Amino acid sequence: MNREWHAEHALGSKAPLDARVAWHREHAQVCACRPVPASLRPLLSTPTPTPTPVAPPTPA
Ligand SMILES: [Zn+2]
Repeated sequence: MNREWHAEHALGSKAPLDARVAWHREHAQVCACRPVPASLRPLLSTPTPTPTPVAPPTPA
């Protein structure tokens, strides 16, 4: 168990769904102390869409 990571990433019982998904997504990479809940698994398999960076205006 990755104690340091857990200490830095406490997930409150009232955490919103997106926070849980983000937590488990990161948790799965660094620790395996608990499986991802079946209810979250479909959400985890979908990568979060990264916002497209706005291209700076090209100088004329
Ligand atoms: Zn863990």
